[in-house]
Amino acid sequence: MLTQINGLHHVTSLASGAQDNNAFFTKTLGLRRVKKTVNFDAPDVYHLYYGDETGSPGSVMTYFPFPGARRGRSGSGEVATTAFTVPKDALPFWEQRLADHKVAGLQKGSRFGADVLAFQGPDGDGFALVTGDDERSPWVSQDVPEEVAIRGFHSADMRLAPRGAAASAELLRFMGYETAERDGNVTRFQVPGGTAANVIDISEVDAPQADQGAGSVHHIAFSVDNREKQLEVRRALMDTGYQVTPVIDRDYFWAIYFRSPGGVLFEVATNEPGFDRDEDTAHLGEALKLPSQHEHLRGRLEELLEPIHD
Ligand code: ZN
Repeated sequence: MLTQINGLHHVTSLASGAQDNNAFFTKTLGLRRVKKTVNFDAPDVYHLYYGDETGSPGSVMTYFPFPGARRGRSGSGEVATTAFTVPKDALPFWEQRLADHKVAGLQKGSRFGADVLAFQGPDGDGFALVTGDDERSPWVSQDVPEEVAIRGFHSADMRLAPRGAAASAELLRFMGYETAERDGNVTRFQVPGGTAANVIDISEVDAPQADQGAGSVHHIAFSVDNREKQLEVRRALMDTGYQVTPVIDRDYFWAIYFRSPGGVLFEVATNEPGFDRDEDTAHLGEALKLPSQHEHLRGRLEELLEPIHD
């Protein structure tokens, strides 16, 4: 069993438009855009990162916006819901705010004893706010005061068919997660001694395979402290029979990827070097940053990419 994984690092999804996506995360949810760059593998598409002040691992929601992309169809084999933690008494504020902003899919409920407010992102993305005690400092924006602001990720909920669910549970245990609780068809996994973003839920469903599109999660990334621990994880996964990519330099972290048995793409990302690698913390996310291999495309990309008005 591995001990290097701390919890979630980031969650990356697909969107249909950069402007709407940016407005939703920075204005409606009050997160900070911590990086404006491009998809390193397809540089004519943005890669936008939203999180806390510095983009701490465990706080960062990221997007590839493909202009006009059709919506995904939800089903099994995907991350159905990404949940953020908010303070205990914050849900009435959010209920009002999300309703005022005409956010779709608002639904109050509870899971594992905590109050939950489910809602949808601009492309039908599945999100939830979960109440809890959380020591993390939030990014504070104009309209979202500190006492109610999002602290970072709480969990990701994978919706899986029974076989994938069983195999994914085994994988999570191998990665250092322990079965914490069960609530109906949902099993909760937690890294003991992990970060505040150390929860993964598996919802076992009997549903057709999801069809990825705008609003779908593309992959979830797990955090390790450094490259050394990442190599240990990579080796252990490969020894267990997983096909894992070589280590890839993503400028702000190092990444390896592999497909989990339930169909969800997993990444393991390092906490180093972080988003202040090429911008001051005070100005994170303001300029279009390009990796050195794509810097020669800057003129063309600045014309091609949808303008984002903050
Ligand atoms: Zn990633």
